[in-house]
Amino acid sequence: MTTPLNCQNYINGQWLNAATENTLNSHNPADKSEIVATFPRSQADDVDRAVANARQAYRSWRKVPAPARAEYIFRVGELLLQHKEELAQLISREMGKPLTEARGDIQEGIDCAFYSAGEGRRLFGQTTPSEMPNKFAMTVRMPIGVCALITPWNFPVAIPCWKAMPALVCGNTVILKPAEDTPACATKLIEIFAAAGLPPGVINLVHGVGEEVGKALVEHPDIDLVSFTGSSATGAYVGETCGRTHKRVCLEMGGKNAQVVMEDADLELALDGALWGAFGTTGQRCTATSRLILHRDIKEKFTAMLRERTSKLRLGAGTELDTEIGPIINNRQLQRVHEYMNIAHEEGAKILIGGKIATDGQLKQGYFFQPTILDNVTPDMRVAREEIFGPVVALIEVSTFEEAIAILNDTKYGLSSSIYTRDINRAFAAIRDIEAGITYINGPTIGAEVHLPFGGVKQTGNGHREAGTTALDVFTEWKSVYVDFSGSLQRAQIDNRS
Ligand code: ADP
Repeated sequence: MTTPLNCQNYINGQWLNAATENTLNSHNPADKSEIVATFPRSQADDVDRAVANARQAYRSWRKVPAPARAEYIFRVGELLLQHKEELAQLISREMGKPLTEARGDIQEGIDCAFYSAGEGRRLFGQTTPSEMPNKFAMTVRMPIGVCALITPWNFPVAIPCWKAMPALVCGNTVILKPAEDTPACATKLIEIFAAAGLPPGVINLVHGVGEEVGKALVEHPDIDLVSFTGSSATGAYVGETCGRTHKRVCLEMGGKNAQVVMEDADLELALDGALWGAFGTTGQRCTATSRLILHRDIKEKFTAMLRERTSKLRLGAGTELDTEIGPIINNRQLQRVHEYMNIAHEEGAKILIGGKIATDGQLKQGYFFQPTILDNVTPDMRVAREEIFGPVVALIEVSTFEEAIAILNDTKYGLSSSIYTRDINRAFAAIRDIEAGITYINGPTIGAEVHLPFGGVKQTGNGHREAGTTALDVFTEWKSVYVDFSGSLQRAQIDNRS
């Protein structure tokens, strides 16, 4: 067992404990007796300090030319590449996902670095004619100010990168408040930002409990923007508070994503997609496949295929090379997933396979749950409507394409979606009619790429999109600029009209 990492806050280029010196621990979810890290339990005064320094740094950072700002982010990408393997090991230990997926988490950060760095030489605005003679008109993107980035544990490197990288290239300064479950991953990531040479105060890290340090950030009068990814309940609080205190806010919350399999689908392909979508990252992705909507003509056959493959999935610590399904992040979440089994049972669903906390051999050391298929699920059941965030997939039978799309859309969320069909007409009708921010044709619901917008409709978000060029809309404000070179007063809508 390795010695716990001693994590600190990073404020104004210095590594610091919380002012109170209080600390908390993070654990290995595959072996709860292993403490991975000790980290500061920060409070409002630590937040005040970070905000004051980020504000001070903003004054000069916003004036650093965007291509120069972007070069720091490019360097972060290079350093992430260099440290990919050690960071992947840490993600697997602290968050639990298998090493291949942990490498993917970092790769997403690397992709985001190189993509965001390119934006330093674009950040395009528009030029447009003026209605007046001898007058020039254009739009430019302006940074917003000090941004609080509040992130979850399921992508402990990728999500902070998605937020921090475009924010910094756009000229903002940032304060990262990572999830309590993955402080070491956040600390190692910020060490890399620091090693890239970013000036003091440009990027800051404040560890702690959501209701303490997260709340202090969201309510702080000198924060200009909050970018939040997490649960719908916390997101509602963040949105309300930012509304009341007039902050910009970008929210990424829950999902209840579905994969449709039509009778004309390539069933082997759809099976691979369903397994990866439902059980990849132990179902702990906001884009995870939580519902499988199956055409009645293939339902029986597909269910048998799915059951067979699910029974062979290997559970284990993410750090072990043959692990396919890692642990659940913590005991609270494990119990929550388990509780859904009672709910499913009471509502008349059938547990086809799984349904129990896994305790064989070494598994009892951690928070493992058997990959679970729920059959006979109807769209009104709680297991078809609520986000479970574990390795659980609900099967729903349909008779037509129209019914499949209607059921897919029958949710308050709208993040990701998928349909397997060989019929091009159905594929395009699905693209048109599915209510979701992301639609995959013949691919699973998970697997977003960093240069496309990421986010959802309905209660998944608040209309913003992360990643892609749309991230720039989160982290900048538009300024319209008029340059009058006529040397006289020209009154719009008056002097050029009779
Ligand atoms: P999860 O259920 O996945 O832990 P949360 O929404 O609770 O989702 O957590 C996501 C992030 O939000 C974490 O960094 C957490 O610390 C933070 N958080 C939790 N509660 C609050 C709050 N009241 N104010 C601000 N941030 C919070």
